[in-house]
Amino acid sequence: METLLRNDAPEEEVEGEIQNIRMSMNPHPAGQLEKNVPEHEGQILRGMQHKYDETILFFPAQGQTCHAFCTFCFRWAQFIGMDDLKFSSRDVELLISYLQEHPEVKDVLFTGGDPMTMSAGLLKRYIEPILEADIRSIENIRIGTKSLSYWPYRFVSDKDSEDILALFSNVTEHNKHMALMAHFNHPRELATDVVKKAIQNIRSTGTQIRTQSPLIAHINDEASLWEQMWREQVRLGCIPYYMFMVRNTGAKHYFDVPMAKAWEIFQNAYQNVSGLARTVRGPSMSTDPGKINILGVQEINNEKVFVLEFLQGRESNWVRKPFFAKYSQTASWLTDLKPAFGNDRFFFD
Ligand code: SF4
Repeated sequence: METLLRNDAPEEEVEGEIQNIRMSMNPHPAGQLEKNVPEHEGQILRGMQHKYDETILFFPAQGQTCHAFCTFCFRWAQFIGMDDLKFSSRDVELLISYLQEHPEVKDVLFTGGDPMTMSAGLLKRYIEPILEADIRSIENIRIGTKSLSYWPYRFVSDKDSEDILALFSNVTEHNKHMALMAHFNHPRELATDVVKKAIQNIRSTGTQIRTQSPLIAHINDEASLWEQMWREQVRLGCIPYYMFMVRNTGAKHYFDVPMAKAWEIFQNAYQNVSGLARTVRGPSMSTDPGKINILGVQEINNEKVFVLEFLQGRESNWVRKPFFAKYSQTASWLTDLKPAFGNDRFFFD
């Protein structure tokens, strides 16, 4: 790309190279396009993912942009204008009809992009019909967002902040749990007065804020940062939820932290926080077969191994079943691992 730009290459050539680079970066990892998209009444629901029984992901069309555009974004394919790569839907009626037929779904997670880039009016158009449809099996409405870190004014002084907070209250008044899945990467993001005010405002609606972040080289690959972040989150009334491994998409090579180091960072931070912050799980890999937690490194029968478990699995009976992989100093994803003890496959293969 640099050479093309230096040589003033024609636009089509630059576009072509952009395309090649994008396609080499695994736009939809973990089988999302092929395996997670549900079907309903003969239609493929391209704006939803249903991987684990109890949770459905919905990608509202107007929320498929973001405040932040993180260089390590794992949803970058949502933003590049290629419709065949994008998850997106405006059809809340279809979502409702799907939920009515799938009582195993307990949580609807609005995600993106960042649904909090939408106005209160638009958000209402997606959330209120679910409340009005009175689907008993739905217990939790979740929104995944970076807004608390990147634009906390969303909940404090935007022209529709009050409407957003009223919508959250409305969810709790309908006896559903409203959960904001907040993306914070660094304790610095919790330092401003406005983020503290935003957290207070959100909590006053009965909404719980659960926090999550990938563990990213050059940004937060130090235990002390995670310790500070989790302590401050608890002090502000948030619930630490996940430390993720960098997903196998985008510029993973640059942001990668090996599993062995990730586990050390997690353990060192976790050992120093109070029980209230030990709600956090990780380091966790969101892989094709499921969410895999790295429990630790052990030596068993003279073999050094990673001890792992599923926190979520494509098959629910895989969950919480410990399994073992050969230790590796450099492995950073499930696909880098080999089964331990001379086995030729993992139990879920
Ligand atoms: S906040 Fe999330 S969706 Fe937005 S750019 Fe960052 S990683 Fe991507």
